[in-house]
Amino acid sequence: MDILINQGKIAEIGTDLAIEGYYTVDATDKIVIPGLIDMHCEICEPGYEHRENLITASLSAARGGFTSITCNPNTLPAIDNKTVVEYIKAKSITDAVTHLFPYGCLTKGCENNELTEYGEMQLSGTVALSDGDIPIQDNSLVNKIFRYVSMLDMPIIMHCEDTSISNNSGIHEGYTSTRLGLKGFPVVAETMHLARNILLSKEYDIHLHIAHVSTKESVELIRMAKAQGIHITAETSPRYFILDETMADHYNTFAKVSPPLRTSEDIEGIIQGLKDGTIDVISSDHKPNTIDSKQLEFQVASFGFSSFETAFKLAYTHLVSNNQLSLNDLIQKMSHNPAQILGINKGHIKVGYDADIVIVDQHDTHTINPNIFLSKAKYSLYEGIEVDVNITNTIISGKNYGYTL
Ligand SMILES: [Zn+2]
Repeated sequence: MDILINQGKIAEIGTDLAIEGYYTVDATDKIVIPGLIDMHCEICEPGYEHRENLITASLSAARGGFTSITCNPNTLPAIDNKTVVEYIKAKSITDAVTHLFPYGCLTKGCENNELTEYGEMQLSGTVALSDGDIPIQDNSLVNKIFRYVSMLDMPIIMHCEDTSISNNSGIHEGYTSTRLGLKGFPVVAETMHLARNILLSKEYDIHLHIAHVSTKESVELIRMAKAQGIHITAETSPRYFILDETMADHYNTFAKVSPPLRTSEDIEGIIQGLKDGTIDVISSDHKPNTIDSKQLEFQVASFGFSSFETAFKLAYTHLVSNNQLSLNDLIQKMSHNPAQILGINKGHIKVGYDADIVIVDQHDTHTINPNIFLSKAKYSLYEGIEVDVNITNTIISGKNYGYTL
């Protein structure tokens, strides 16, 4: 089949659509998929441009097959009012190669004190509300938030962590943490918070989206909530179905993430949740930090790592190549479902839609090399890991970015 793109839109899908004077991209023997949509990433602009900015973030995202990205609002200033939403949207038009759909803060400055103006931010273009990776602790505050959001049609995205028991830790409370003598983040610090948020979603009939699910117990809770008809969706990221707590051995700070890498049973539980539809979305969880902030003692090192350029390749290799998910299911979780959850008109290759298309070479086995990342954070926990596929082209609103490496 041919896809004819005109003025950034898909104009026609059929055979023999070649038109004199049109530029042609040859996708023979490759797979053509809708552009991926990332629901969980940090762009770091404004305020933390030494870590990443809109230019580098979007180039890195596009390299990983994402044609649309969101942004966690814990920037400086935080995306907590109309002016900052308008600023980031305008800046994304000049700086970003991808589309950008901002999230607005649940609380001013993501500080867990005062509510922001949700309706006003929605009118300026936010697609969801979230405090990013900062979990809301106070029950009376979170109750107010859900009650307020019940007047609007916008999902709440929550990172689930009871900070009074998580020890601000980036390692699972278990065998490895005990052996290393580090305080761990127990499973219950995630699940208790998750249970509370599910109950609030039920009480106020709010669409609650759970960010990066890491434990099999969380998958079970979400499965139960869905069975009861509670309006809940969930996401995970590749590290939670590929890597376990032992990655933090030798105090490897690249493995310091929140929630932490869990156990092999959790990995099985997450994969089961992906297979049966309990987990709707796979996000990149791109959290770039300076290398200096990672090369510190484990307790003080920063959380997270650069992930845009590895998410799809890893998910494909570990789920599709291993016959855990079909390619269609993977595309659902990385494109169609995020579009539906965020209420954006994307996630399809269909006439009339934006020409956001990715071409994948499924026979290009290679190892992850962070030195060639387009992100400012040129390091990864996956360095040297083998993947089966590569992205050869990312087409965004009809503009083609071709890659050779
Ligand atoms: Zn988080």
